[in-house]
Amino acid sequence: MRPMTIHFSSGRSDDPPREFPGLPLAVDLSPLKRHYQALGKRHVPKVEAFRRFWAQEGEGLLAPRASVAGIAPEEVVDVLPREVTGSAGTLVLMVWTLGDGLERECERVMSQQGNAMWGLLLDVAGSIALYDMHRLLREWVGSPDRPFGENRVVGEFYPGSGNTSRPLVESVERLGRTAATLGAETRGSVMFHPRKTQYSFLCLGKEGGAFFGGPSPCSPCAGRRCLYYQLGGCHLGLQMDSREAES
Ligand code: SF4
Repeated sequence: MRPMTIHFSSGRSDDPPREFPGLPLAVDLSPLKRHYQALGKRHVPKVEAFRRFWAQEGEGLLAPRASVAGIAPEEVVDVLPREVTGSAGTLVLMVWTLGDGLERECERVMSQQGNAMWGLLLDVAGSIALYDMHRLLREWVGSPDRPFGENRVVGEFYPGSGNTSRPLVESVERLGRTAATLGAETRGSVMFHPRKTQYSFLCLGKEGGAFFGGPSPCSPCAGRRCLYYQLGGCHLGLQMDSREAES
């Protein structure tokens, strides 16, 4: 369990930004376990060794932080699909990161001969942690006793690792004040640094039926040849896992 800090801004001039520390993040490695079990018995000890390492040391590499900000749809009308900006009573930008500890450890491990698979498992566990943070944040924002009051989540635009652009990520960096609150920057790229950083836009309102979009596959997608897919870490598969868990 890792404590996650949320940097919150309602976007109202009479409501100064606040911090909510200590939201507990439990990383659920069961998608990884299910994947190895499906591969056959001889693969299970490998994933069990990794789960022990994760409980003792791996999870400690995470520094989960998020920025949650109410924004005016006019601010993003040029970078988001019209269905998103047109359907929101309130539009909320969420950006979340694991910090750079996990990816530095991945790089260190993968640079050692014979450790590539362990490094990949670490990377996949990081992807799972990002999806668990996403789910936790969506629940936090949509809950009636949270800062956006009675409004609930009626739509979302979540680009995942595709469906993005320079103007979009630069808007996210500026509106989420990610450099100051999360230590996450785009540095002229379409990706954030640290790499394990994601974002989405939530539509809040009283009525359902707004826009739900994403995540998109990588471009190009390597399908079953992709190592992330083979390790159970494809973000599309994880989304399916989380939807099944929610239903
Ligand atoms: S299978 Fe691999 S390349 Fe394709 S969407 Fe999933 S992670 Fe991306």
